[in-house]
Amino acid sequence: MSTILLTIVSLKMASRVIFDPSSCFSHFLINRLKKAHDVPAPTLRQFSDYLKIVPIEGKGFGVVAIKDIEPCTLLFAEAAAGAALVDPASLTASNESILQAVSHMTPEIRARFYALHEGPRPFITREMRIWKTNCFDWPNPNMPENSWGAICIDMSRINHSCLPNTDYMHNPSTDKMELYSTRAITAGTEITIRYGLEFEYCTADERKARLRYIYGFTCTCPICSDSPLQMKSDQRRRLIKRNYFVGMMGQATVPDFSAKALGIDGPMSTRPIGSQRRGVGFHDGMQIFRPGTQEFMRHTLKLMYDDGLMCGEDFWMHANIYASTALIRIHKKMKAQMGMPTRQDLVEMMPLQKLFMASTILQVKTRAEDDPFAIQLKEDFALVMNMFNVIIMEPMTIKQSEEAIREIMEREPDPLVERHWRPRAS
Ligand SMILES: [Zn+2]
Repeated sequence: MSTILLTIVSLKMASRVIFDPSSCFSHFLINRLKKAHDVPAPTLRQFSDYLKIVPIEGKGFGVVAIKDIEPCTLLFAEAAAGAALVDPASLTASNESILQAVSHMTPEIRARFYALHEGPRPFITREMRIWKTNCFDWPNPNMPENSWGAICIDMSRINHSCLPNTDYMHNPSTDKMELYSTRAITAGTEITIRYGLEFEYCTADERKARLRYIYGFTCTCPICSDSPLQMKSDQRRRLIKRNYFVGMMGQATVPDFSAKALGIDGPMSTRPIGSQRRGVGFHDGMQIFRPGTQEFMRHTLKLMYDDGLMCGEDFWMHANIYASTALIRIHKKMKAQMGMPTRQDLVEMMPLQKLFMASTILQVKTRAEDDPFAIQLKEDFALVMNMFNVIIMEPMTIKQSEEAIREIMEREPDPLVERHWRPRAS
């Protein structure tokens, strides 16, 4: 991404956000907030049984594991230090809402808020620049149609990687942001999350442009560093994007995330896989029972796995949907042939059952017991198991689930090496 282009975009953005601050919030509030700037921030500390904040070379601060961590471990849950409107269409109202939220923080929390990274975007106040750079999407039941963002002071200290070792989600029953390990992590390793929600569909250049525009840093993770690994990863992510949007969603073309990389929302601004998580829009346009769609899903899973995206909720959910729909398709076929499975059916069923069980366990374990989605998953699980009327294996532990997925995925050839492999068109 050229610097000139970024500058032009920055100037355009700047011209959109300039307004008279005195017209929308009081000077009293600004003066009160300014006083907190010089308070030293107590950032270096342990904030969970597993994590502590430390200086990280080249990144300012970061978070590291203080002990070995198993996958699917709840590492930390944090309540919001404040929630505010973060609507790109109403910057004035958002700014006012952010200033209000900051003014309600305790002096200690406010000092730590001001110590967070400010980001390079030209928002009118420092508070808004810090807020927009660090906030997490946060539901506001009273205003569900507006975008709300909350600050989680400690969670904000976690740096980005395009191959992160943790994932986070808002738990509606506790109203806290929860952080889970998605891989085994050894003591001393830096804890990372991904900042860009569509990154599994973006090449290194697209990801870098977005990270530079919003956060002002250049990612140096293994798949962003100029190397054969990066080239291979870019190729895989282009295929993942094509498979998802063309093969599974039935779209004529793939969305262009380059505008989004520069903070300009294009027509495709929602997160495709994330929409499944919220239970909306997933089935729209996706005929998951078509054998063709399932081939695309299988191919996508393999690409995600080979690119290091095999851990985390999105992969597990993808695997779960693929395995359950493929199993139901075989079941329907068996019913049509008087319940007699062919040898081919049996060969196909065993790894699917294993994949279904493993992906269910990995998803349920990263959610609270009373999380509505976890309850739904358990019901679906029982339904599919009853349908086959067999106990296929002993219940798996998290470790066994991970191994099962690895074994299934590694059995398939790398699609980039397998030149003649093509998903069947339906
Ligand atoms: Zn990266």
